Amino acid sequence: MNKPIIIGNWKLNGSKYSIQTFVRNFFKELSNFKKCNIIIAPPNIYLDFFKNILFNKNLISLCAQDVDFNNYGSFTGETSPLMLKDIGVKYVIIGHSERRFYHKEDDQVITKKFSSLKKIGLIPIICIGETKTEKLQDKTIDVICYKQLNSIIEKMGVESLNDSIIAYEPIWAIGTGKAANPNEVQIIHESIRQFIFKKNSQTAKKVKILYGGSINEKNAIKFFEKQDVDGLLVGNAALETKIFSRIINEISYYNKNNN
Ligand code: PEP
Repeated sequence: MNKPIIIGNWKLNGSKYSIQTFVRNFFKELSNFKKCNIIIAPPNIYLDFFKNILFNKNLISLCAQDVDFNNYGSFTGETSPLMLKDIGVKYVIIGHSERRFYHKEDDQVITKKFSSLKKIGLIPIICIGETKTEKLQDKTIDVICYKQLNSIIEKMGVESLNDSIIAYEPIWAIGTGKAANPNEVQIIHESIRQFIFKKNSQTAKKVKILYGGSINEKNAIKFFEKQDVDGLLVGNAALETKIFSRIINEISYYNKNNN
């Protein structure tokens, strides 16, 4: 059985000191972490520092919060896929709603990033999600499947999703403390899988679909217990060692097959 995937996105937070403290306490708090695929995305500038503090234990995978689609050249301020690979990064988040909103990244740019990552063997974590208005207008599936995911599928082929991770993150649920309804999330995840299934049944089985948006230690299991939720993308709660480790511990001990 595949391991549940738990991603911690630290956003623009952290320092050398806080990372050292986090790592020290994190492993003390975790009881059965080998049952989860734990992925952490510190700010890019701390990726190498974080990796060295982990002593290459291979217990946590390194993830970048974003990337440029160019591998090198005159692109001041950017970080390239090749550079991330060079320092041992395995996963890269693309299309996070904060990038779409603050940096005006559209589906075309996100598809280019996806393509660059695939070319060099980094694993994309593609964030998709609707606004509150789109939800109220019943446009969720149109936005996340027919627009956001389809942009990648049309350019790269549906099989390109085989080893990728999709994170369904309703924009209105990110950082607001108002998580989505787990039953509704199951329906949406099932619809995403169905959408992919119609194009390729094997890809639909292989692709991992995570939920993200105001996850905490109290609600995590309510999402994870749903059939089509393969894991969670955790933002603010991943900054708190105790809370993040509690989420991981709960999920590690939850056996989906027996419930
Ligand atoms: C995120 O940043 O992707 C996220 C889900 O944040 P939060 O958990 O704080 O809502």
